[in-house]
Amino acid sequence: MSEVAGDVEGVIRVMPETLANKIAAGEVVQRPASVAKELIENAVDAGAEDVELILKKSGRELVQVIDDGCGMSRADAVACFKRHATSKIQSVEDLERIRTLGFRGEALASIGAVAQVELKTKRVEDAVGTHVRVDGGKIVETEPCAAPNGTSVAVRNLFFNVPARRNFLKTPATEFKHLAETFQFLSLSEPSIAFGLVHNGNEVYRLPAAAEGNFFDRLSRRIGDLFGEAHARKLVQVEDESSYLSARGFVGEPEFHRRGRDEQFLFVNGRHVESRYLAHAVRAAYDNLLPEGTFPFFTLFLELDPRRVDVNVHPTKAEVKFDDQSGVYGFVKSVVRRALGAQDLTPQFEAHRREAEEDSEEEKPTFSPKGGQRPVSFQPRWEGEGAEGKASAASRPQKGGSSAEKESSAPASGGFSETLYRPRQASSAEDASEEAPQTESERKQVRLPFWQLEEQYVVTVREGRLFVIDQAAAHRRILYERARRRLEEKGAESQQLLFPHTLEFSAADFELLQELLPDLGALGFDLEPFSGRTVVVRGVPPELRVGEERTSLEALLEQYKANQDQLQLKKRENLAQSLARQGAIRKGHRLSVAEMKALARDLFRCEMPYADPQGRPTVLQLAADELGERFGQ
Ligand code: ADP
Ligand code: MG
Repeated sequence: MSEVAGDVEGVIRVMPETLANKIAAGEVVQRPASVAKELIENAVDAGAEDVELILKKSGRELVQVIDDGCGMSRADAVACFKRHATSKIQSVEDLERIRTLGFRGEALASIGAVAQVELKTKRVEDAVGTHVRVDGGKIVETEPCAAPNGTSVAVRNLFFNVPARRNFLKTPATEFKHLAETFQFLSLSEPSIAFGLVHNGNEVYRLPAAAEGNFFDRLSRRIGDLFGEAHARKLVQVEDESSYLSARGFVGEPEFHRRGRDEQFLFVNGRHVESRYLAHAVRAAYDNLLPEGTFPFFTLFLELDPRRVDVNVHPTKAEVKFDDQSGVYGFVKSVVRRALGAQDLTPQFEAHRREAEEDSEEEKPTFSPKGGQRPVSFQPRWEGEGAEGKASAASRPQKGGSSAEKESSAPASGGFSETLYRPRQASSAEDASEEAPQTESERKQVRLPFWQLEEQYVVTVREGRLFVIDQAAAHRRILYERARRRLEEKGAESQQLLFPHTLEFSAADFELLQELLPDLGALGFDLEPFSGRTVVVRGVPPELRVGEERTSLEALLEQYKANQDQLQLKKRENLAQSLARQGAIRKGHRLSVAEMKALARDLFRCEMPYADPQGRPTVLQLAADELGERFGQ
């Protein structure tokens, strides 16, 4: 002890600020693109209407940003190069409400430490501007100068004093790719600001301010200016919100897929973030509509309470962390899926589904059609709007009325599935009697063409388009979405058995059954483990045939096990898929007109009508003009 005590000179020193900045620069400034990002963000924060990025040699030689923002006073023009110098936050509370892009006050200090920087700035209220030169972290010159209102920061010879870093830079092409990406996401996040990019004297982008119209108009205009008009025509609008999250923006149409991930832009509270996790959520929403190895285009803006998201986890602020990661994932996936599901369909489907959703809000009284009672919206507005569309809308239950329909979220035992599983004789007889049209509109609808081809496809015509629906695939999709909904809502509907009975299972199946008991309950199985390997069955989901509980349940377990081996899906997904496969009609099943109609209606009410749970197509369509093409007209 005593020998240490004698050593009074400690070895720890506080670093000189220039050294600290140089070290910190390693985090903030990784490459020319990081410089461009920091400078453009400062310009945006300064309220600029026009931002110009000028590059030479992919940023190695020069990264310069010129803006027409608020400018800086002489004092600030010097202070801004100090570490943790910022005008944007003052307190810890501010940190929770950050709305500006910058806030750490370390960008200019870091950049100044590893490059030669020239700042020219002037505020409107000042007669002259200020010129400051910084070289490797030291202010070497400060003088008044003539300058336009706004700020210009020129960063030359990046990493000139950190050779290891300079050598670490990638090829000019790669560095330019990063710069272009940075320019793209920043300009996408602010369509109403004009942006320009000039590289080695060539104008690469000239984006006029997109100030006209609403958010979507401006954003699609910016996308068109950035990527070309072809992009802008292939967009599907996304707009949705949950209790604490909102999402809006655009995703690409499925056929407009990209080979890489570089056209995927995600913003959280206006800030660009990288998130493999959420990019995956978007990709998942396409549900195998995209060929393998391709990626969707997207530009999505999420908004949520800043306290529920941490943007501070990384110095370059590119990564986010939500307090509810999986909730955000699920939200993104479902809003994109909804948007895609609604797209390409004629607006009636969309409108119809929206209404059904509105009706299913919790506080409204709900009604599941039972017995002979037919859901009010059973007649889909399948043949287009106009008089009869209005008529059927009028016959819908009024909001807040006594019989608002909850068809879309609670599968009705008396709905589609009932007609579908009614014994053959009854269902063909019903065409004539039970379906007897009540109103003019209904009479018309009955005359709508529906054919079944080879007991496998449902063919129909609507608004000049021929639709061919694969009945089995379509039904799998319908049952799958119902099952998913029920598993999520835990609101099972179960057809109670008149005589509960016991079933005995193998030890392995019994184990599995017990493990799945809560979810099977959510699906509508009313089961109770009895003793040994037996369970009492009191009820089964409405989709399954009564009297076949044992085979259904066994087949379901088999399907589940097969799915588990093949796909390694999550438990609920797996169950929903198994139930869909097990319960769905097959080819060879004859359908009545009413059943075909119900199938078409239910399919187009799905969030993702175009593919079955495994991604196989459910419906093909052919427009009259495509026919014309085939006939060589
Ligand atoms: P931060 O953006 O995190 O505050 P920076 O180091 O990027 O930190 O900038 C420091 C400060 O310099 C900013 O807070 C702002 O007051 C000022 N500043 C930087 N760039 C500009 C600009 N283009 N126009 C006006 N002020 C600027
Ligand atoms: Mg900044």
